[in-house]
Amino acid sequence: TSAQIGVTGLAVMGRNLARNFARNGYTVAVHNRTASRMKALVEEFGHEGGFIGAETAEEFVAALERPRRLVIMVKAGEPTDAVIQEFAPLLEPGDMIIDGGNAHFADTRRRERELRERGIHFVGTGISGGEEGALHGPSIMPGGSVESYASLGPMLEKISAKAKDGAPCVTHCGPDGAGHFVKMVHNGIEYADMQLIGEAYQLLRDVAGYSPAEIAEIFRTWNTGRLDSYLIEITAEVLSHVDAATGKPFVDVVVDQAEQKGTGRWTVQIALDLGVPVSGIAEAVFARSLSGHAKLREASQGLAGPTAVPLGKEEAAAFADRVEQALYASKIVSYTQGFHEIAAGSEEYGWDIDLGAVASIWRGGCIIRAAFLDRIRAAYDARADLPSLLSDETFAREIAAAQDDWREVLIAATRQGVPTPGFAAALAYYDALRATRLPAALTQGQRDFFGAHTYRRVDREGTFHTLWGGDRSEVSA
Ligand code: NDP
Repeated sequence: TSAQIGVTGLAVMGRNLARNFARNGYTVAVHNRTASRMKALVEEFGHEGGFIGAETAEEFVAALERPRRLVIMVKAGEPTDAVIQEFAPLLEPGDMIIDGGNAHFADTRRRERELRERGIHFVGTGISGGEEGALHGPSIMPGGSVESYASLGPMLEKISAKAKDGAPCVTHCGPDGAGHFVKMVHNGIEYADMQLIGEAYQLLRDVAGYSPAEIAEIFRTWNTGRLDSYLIEITAEVLSHVDAATGKPFVDVVVDQAEQKGTGRWTVQIALDLGVPVSGIAEAVFARSLSGHAKLREASQGLAGPTAVPLGKEEAAAFADRVEQALYASKIVSYTQGFHEIAAGSEEYGWDIDLGAVASIWRGGCIIRAAFLDRIRAAYDARADLPSLLSDETFAREIAAAQDDWREVLIAATRQGVPTPGFAAALAYYDALRATRLPAALTQGQRDFFGAHTYRRVDREGTFHTLWGGDRSEVSA
């Protein structure tokens, strides 16, 4: 017997992905640099389905039916290149290497090009949902050739999460690095979602005066409405958890320094390169880095702030409703920015990514899964060339209804000295987009003054320069 698919790299993700394939009826060849992990998998979970354990790369490749489908689930970066170099010489034209790690899309583009020259399909694939997702059904974002997707698609559909309407959470995102790019932005949006939720929590605690347990209840209520999502659900779980050792709310015994693995940072770096304003995502990345500057924070403890005036009980309840509006409006902006980045990447690299399909495959399995994504898909279904999610009538109407509360929440935050960079960046983006005139005109004037960088006029075609150092007359540049 031969295996329809092979997985090499059997840490949490690879092991669970291999089990997922096996549980869905596929025979799976399994391999790991350190063979003990492979043996442990076969021993512990062999009863779940058809596994072929391979100790060497040669055995592993020999176990696969042709064309071979070989999934790499190793540490992203150099280990991925090392594994490719180990296996590629053993493969034949038409075979497929699927990289399910969190690779940078530029690496994926390079690897795809190199392997294409040898006739091998390299399928950079974003996989979201953590270890649970890998086992029970992740959201899967494959790139690579159309030909490879024809072979892999049905298998990926089988092991993927299913949205509430039963649709598999996988789509061919586009050629070469498209899948890893989409996964990168997914993670950037995840950072923004988490930051916004964090700010809502802080406001409910410091402005409204609620306890973590009370805030958990508020989040549970929100989760029955338009904010219904995995992240809101687990937020309530974390907030209601009590530390066994101290009896304190768990959230109060955790060091408040957020860590990151890099995909959020990449989202912002690439957005800067593409010239896409993803200010909400950027603030989320910066907020994590600020939290980690322990010495800087320590040195700033004595800085002056406003005198906090806690709200009364009734005011607090009304304020909580406002925070829900602010959170929802800011969330719309985060997704607007993230989808803009995907559209810009798609344009830059010629990927032709279907934004509605992306929204659709994020509805299940992944960390940002949410009822909300149905509405984004509907927005792109209604109009594939939507310039921005904010141009969608439904979203525009919802923000119109939320904006007064959104502004009130930011006023309260400012007055009480609660940092809300995510909410504030989102509102500034919204206000800047709807402004008829921006101070960018002044910026252009300054640039022309100090550097003769020229400007365009509102009333005439052409490029102009003012002779600032001379008689200040205008010349055509
Ligand atoms: P790790 O990222 O911790 O990687 C460990 C695996 O990589 C082990 O199988 C290890 O083999 C192998 N490995 C490391 N270096 C080499 C090398 N030079 N040659 C061969 N094999 C090597 O495992 P995870 O399961 O957490 O993640 C796997 C991939 O999935 C990563 O790219 C990660 O970013 C991505 N991912 C992870 C998610 C998560 O929630 N953890 C979610 C989505 C994606 P050995 O046992 O011999 O050390």
